[in-house]
Amino acid sequence: MADTIELSVADIHELALKALLANGCDESNAEAIATTVSTAERDGSESHGMFRIPGYISALRSGKVNGQSNPTAETVTPAVIRMHGDGGFTPLAINRGVPLLAEAGKTYGIAAMPIVNTYHFAALWPETEQLAEHGLVGMAFTVAKPKVAPAGASKALFGTNPISVAWPRPGKTPWVFDMATSARALGDIMIAARDNHTIPEGTGLDSEGSPTTDPAQIIDGGVLLPFGGHKGSAISTMVELLAAGLIGEQFSFEAAETDNNDGGPARGGELLIAMSPEVLAGADWQAHCESFFEKLSGLEGVRLPGARRHLNRGNTHVRNVNAALIDEIKTLL
Ligand code: NDP
Repeated sequence: MADTIELSVADIHELALKALLANGCDESNAEAIATTVSTAERDGSESHGMFRIPGYISALRSGKVNGQSNPTAETVTPAVIRMHGDGGFTPLAINRGVPLLAEAGKTYGIAAMPIVNTYHFAALWPETEQLAEHGLVGMAFTVAKPKVAPAGASKALFGTNPISVAWPRPGKTPWVFDMATSARALGDIMIAARDNHTIPEGTGLDSEGSPTTDPAQIIDGGVLLPFGGHKGSAISTMVELLAAGLIGEQFSFEAAETDNNDGGPARGGELLIAMSPEVLAGADWQAHCESFFEKLSGLEGVRLPGARRHLNRGNTHVRNVNAALIDEIKTLL
C-alpha cells in the first residue's frame, strides 16, 4: 500500500487551484478544473482527481493548451448548441455550456451540444449529473488517444472512450453510470502500476500481443482490451463516431497524430445530449420510472451505479491522497 496523506476536500481544491494558477491558468479555468478534480476526490474517483494535476500542468507548460481560454457558444439550430473551447481544458466549456443545453433540452425535448477544440482529462459524470439535476436525461461521450485494441486485433485504435448517462430522480440522487469502454480505465492501470498491483486477466495484452496481468506491460507498448469482447468493441466504435465523426473533431488515431505527447490530454471533442422525459413521456414519467427503479433495487445483489460515489460524497471526513503525488504537485507550484 502506497503512503497517503490526509487532506480535506477544501485543501485538495486549494492545492489544485494554486498549482493551476502558478502554471498559466486564469482564475476561471483554474477554478473550473480545481472543482472537477476536488469533486472527483470527494466522490472517490481517484483516477480523475489530483492524479491528473501533473498532466494538466505538463500541457500548460508545453504550450499545447490555452490556460486562459474563453469558451463561447454558437447556436447552430435552436436544439444544437456548439461550444468552442478556444484550445482550453474542457471543464470551463462544460460549466458555461450545460445551462444552455439544459434550457434547449427542456424546450425542445432533445438537444445536443458538441464541444470542440478542447482537451478532455476528466470523468464525465459531473456534466451528466448536472443535466439530471435539471430534470433531464444527460448523455456524454468523448474519445482519447488510442490505447484499446478492437476485438480480434492486438494493435490499439480506440481510446478508452468513456460513456456516461444520468437519469433524473427528483428528490433523490440521479441514476448515473460513467464507464470507460475498455475493460479498465487507463488511469486505473497507471495507478495499479504505480502501486505494484496486478490486474485481472482479460484487461489487456503486452507488446507481443499476449494476455498480461502486469499493468506496466500494458503501459509500455501493450494495449487494453474493450469490455465485453466484440460488444464493447462496437460500443467503443460508436463513441469514436459520436464524439469525433458526428461533431467534426479528431478520432483517437488523429489525436495521436497531432499530440505532442507532453503527458497531458490530447485535443478531442465531447458530445453532450439532453433529453426531457417530461416532453417525451409526459407528466407521469417520474412515478413510472420510480416503479422500475424500485423493482431493480429490490433484487438481491443489485446496487445502482453511482451509489458508491454518492455515498462517498456524503462523507465529510478527510480524503487519503497518495503522498508522493502531493509532493510532486508541490514542486510544480
Ligand atoms: P468503473 O468500472 O469503476 O465504473 C463504471 C460504472 O459502473 C460506474 O458508474 C460505477 O458506479 C458502476 N459500477 C461499478 N461497480 C458496480 C457494481 N458492482 N454495481 C453497479 N454499478 C457498478 O469505471 P471505469 O474504470 O470504466 O471508468 C472510470 C472513469 O474514467 C469514468 O469516470 C470515465 O469517465 C473516466 N474516463 C475518462 C476518459 C477521458 O478521456 N476523459 C477516458 C476513459 C475513462 P460507481 O462510480 O458508483 O462505482
